[in-house]
Amino acid sequence: MPELPEVETIRRDLDAKLRGARIRNVEVRLAKIVFPHGSAFARALRGVVIRGIRRRGKLLVFDMERYPSQRHLPRRQVHSSHKIKTVQFYGIGRLVMLIHLKMTGQLVLRHHKQIIFGGHTIVGAHELPNKYTHVIFYFTPLENASRLAAGSGGSIRVPLETQSLTGRARRSMSRASSLTGVTNGDTLYFNDLRQFGYLKLVTSEQAQKILDEYGLEPLSRDFTLEKFAEILKKRKSGKLKSVLMDQSLFAGIGNIYADESCFLARVRPGRRAASLKGKELRTLWRSIKSVLKLSIKHRGTSFNTYVDSQGQAGNFVKYLKVYGRGNKPCKVCGTILKKTVLAGRGTVFCPTCQK
Ligand SMILES: [Zn+2]
Repeated sequence: MPELPEVETIRRDLDAKLRGARIRNVEVRLAKIVFPHGSAFARALRGVVIRGIRRRGKLLVFDMERYPSQRHLPRRQVHSSHKIKTVQFYGIGRLVMLIHLKMTGQLVLRHHKQIIFGGHTIVGAHELPNKYTHVIFYFTPLENASRLAAGSGGSIRVPLETQSLTGRARRSMSRASSLTGVTNGDTLYFNDLRQFGYLKLVTSEQAQKILDEYGLEPLSRDFTLEKFAEILKKRKSGKLKSVLMDQSLFAGIGNIYADESCFLARVRPGRRAASLKGKELRTLWRSIKSVLKLSIKHRGTSFNTYVDSQGQAGNFVKYLKVYGRGNKPCKVCGTILKKTVLAGRGTVFCPTCQK
């Protein structure tokens, strides 16, 4: 599963391309992978503009907006009673799409002849769409807003809002469209071999509730040594690795970065979280931040299956000290690394370096 650095890498690449892009159409091929299920998802997204992509833990958060107004929606969508319900439910203004890649989710953006990957590679990933493609987004740059507002197949109707825009607003709109990295025909594919991933459409209020359930972001200012110490102290019987991987306590740390942080801090992942004191706490707190930052710098970790959104393998694999190295010699002391199972996950540590 991609963790914080891998999701952050995808986020940065997609944000650079999709910020300011308008969704022309959405094709849902597997109804259960989206919420609301099936075609309601597609209807709610048609004509929406992507304002930016954020990340919370391992979750991608697409901030979107109907811009500049409801009249830019295809006419049919506004008039059919069922579709009005969809529009009302999501509101006219802001809506949010949450994408979780889980184990085998993959986002692939086709931009001209360039293919931009994020997530896991799967067999046949270069044929698009393929049998694992469950959702397809078709984009258009913002300057095509008026054409889009006319609906597909209809005559081109310039919406009133555009006609009555002041010069300043028009200039600001064209600035926005010049910022977008997409061109007509750009397509984003959501592929998922095992179908654990999801795409969920929510209002900004609903999104806030969901995002609030996540714990501290380890690379944010909120992740202070005091708070870190307090959380570990409270988990009296919890094992260190389980506590670090608990998304409601710390957002974005998974198997790879829990093991690596513990190695750097010279503490065993099976220790009771509450048993860490003073220097150990401070070192672990620093290690978490440094290992995540270093991994982002190298575009994340790749194990054959993981390829970043530039179609490159993440380079951080070269820097891994313990993860995936069970029964191999420790890079620091040469002791054979021990492999165990903790929190249901394969765990590797050095019995000499880590106490
Ligand atoms: Zn060692």
